[in-house]
Amino acid sequence: MTYTIEQLTGQDQSHLVPLEGFEKHLLTPETARAFSAMREDAARDGIDIAPVSCFRSFQRQLEIWNDKYLGDRPVYDNRNRPVNVGTLTGVETVYAILYWSALPGFSRHHWGTDLDVASQKLMPEGYQLQLTSDEYGPDGIFAPLTAWLDRHMEEYGFFRPFTDDAHVRVGTELWHLSHRSQAAEFERLISREVIAKVVGESQIAGKSCLKGMIDELYDDYIIHL
Ligand SMILES: [Zn+2]
Repeated sequence: MTYTIEQLTGQDQSHLVPLEGFEKHLLTPETARAFSAMREDAARDGIDIAPVSCFRSFQRQLEIWNDKYLGDRPVYDNRNRPVNVGTLTGVETVYAILYWSALPGFSRHHWGTDLDVASQKLMPEGYQLQLTSDEYGPDGIFAPLTAWLDRHMEEYGFFRPFTDDAHVRVGTELWHLSHRSQAAEFERLISREVIAKVVGESQIAGKSCLKGMIDELYDDYIIHL
């Protein structure tokens, strides 16, 4: 299977299908099949695995990025403390945002191979999901989900791309799963040229800073995703 730059960067979703039982969530057919099989087997073990976020469009990621860059949406540091982007330089703001948010066009959520998961059954009624390390850690409400995934997700082709041992300069996301072989097909399409083209053609906040950071973005954030 080969994909276009538009599919790589969240500007075309024609390669995706709705996830059975969760029709508003889109994934590649193979990722959807693998996830459904994993979800069924987990249910037999008494563990509920539900999608929170699957495909996300370029436009949506751009809105998130621009809001954060302009200070209209909170930016958090590596200990979940709010960062005042008004006191930072453009380059510092870019690094602060990248800790928890991908550059538009280079989110793994554009591919349909990655998804954030939670467990409905483990959430008390009215619980507001936050997607934090506390929730998914050994003392968190989703600890049984994390433990089940630790043991079994590889059997279905999934791994966690954002963890301490992944050698990436971004936060650990125990809730973010990726279908390894499906994602690999997108990873190999990313080049410095694609990053420069997408940054150059988009209405992204901080564009002048980003244009001077293409090599760093490629080496430190994107190639390792
Ligand atoms: Zn995610």
